Amino acid sequence: MAIPLVDLQAEYMALKTGLDAAASRVLASGWYILGQEVAAFEAEFAAYLGVAQAVGVASGTDAVLLACRALEIGPGDEVITVAHTAVATIAAIELSGATPLFVDIDPQTYTLDVTQIEAAITPRTRAIMPVHLYGHPAGMAAILAIARRHQLLVIEDCAQAHGASYQGQRVGSMGDAAAFSFYPTKNLGAIGDGGAVVTNNPAVAERLKMLRQYGWRERYISDIAGYNSRLDELQAALLRVKLAHLEQFNEARRRLAAAYQEQLAGLPLTLPIIQPGCEPVFHLYVIQSGQRNELQKYLANQGIGTAIQYPVPVHRQPAYHRLGYAANSLPITEQVCGRILSLPLHPHLTQKQISRVSQTIRSFYHNG
Ligand SMILES: *Cc1c(COP(=O)(O)O)cnc(C)c1O
Repeated sequence: MAIPLVDLQAEYMALKTGLDAAASRVLASGWYILGQEVAAFEAEFAAYLGVAQAVGVASGTDAVLLACRALEIGPGDEVITVAHTAVATIAAIELSGATPLFVDIDPQTYTLDVTQIEAAITPRTRAIMPVHLYGHPAGMAAILAIARRHQLLVIEDCAQAHGASYQGQRVGSMGDAAAFSFYPTKNLGAIGDGGAVVTNNPAVAERLKMLRQYGWRERYISDIAGYNSRLDELQAALLRVKLAHLEQFNEARRRLAAAYQEQLAGLPLTLPIIQPGCEPVFHLYVIQSGQRNELQKYLANQGIGTAIQYPVPVHRQPAYHRLGYAANSLPITEQVCGRILSLPLHPHLTQKQISRVSQTIRSFYHNG
């Protein structure tokens, strides 16, 4: 039996009754864009995270872009972030007109190396954008302290970390604004594209609501130059069903990750590390191996799906060569790209499947 990296059909089957009812309710309502489902989802998601407001938008990329625009970050401004992330983080910063500035990552958490931020700050720096990659929180205490000291904004990219917490606070609740993606494979995923920006600042929320719909404050009157980036009623209704199960699904991910941790111990692999005070949500379970490509091929031959997230850091991609970075190089970023491998992990995986993946990895090392 094949073990896929993710299984969206299993997620649908687990919640079928609720999802079908939600979809039917929207279809029958005759109201499909920015209605009561979006408003209800925004309120429920904000309450879940412990933030004042959530604003639904069309994707995670748009969430990063609109967060920048709502905070008036644009041409001439620099945003300090990482190259070890989904290319969307960087694409969105550039869409705002601002310039991303890369610093290296911490080798243990794969998130922004907080010791390198201050050296990267220039007179044009406006914001720091940590990415809570793989579901593990970035070092927010240091990031927030540096931001306060230098009067910088903090925008959290939470696209892989719905529900993760840092010193008892959910990621997304600590910065000036935070971006979430509801791409289907994320911990909270729609049946299509979707995203949200969350903030505790009512003026920022107000601007976000204008930006997502042509800059309208009042219908048909554009006060600012905006976009069409709306979350639709169908996605919102489906997300409400899934949000009610997010805690339970994140807990399942943590249990399965703990099983991998136990069963892969002692092998020549680097396993995920949980930093003190952090509660990750294991969007991905990422290991490092010196024989990564051979291991991936071996697992594929046994029907086990894996992925490399991501194989080429953003600053090495053809479209982004031109971007500068603060240090002379990003050695940790470059090193991990050649070693990382994401193993199957989703809430509907069984302990038995975890054991099979782990045993197959063991046999790779013992027979190879
Ligand atoms: C998925 C993702 C995004 C982009 O989200 P989309 O909904 O695909 O636009 C941004 N940042 C990170 C870290 C992501 O994983």
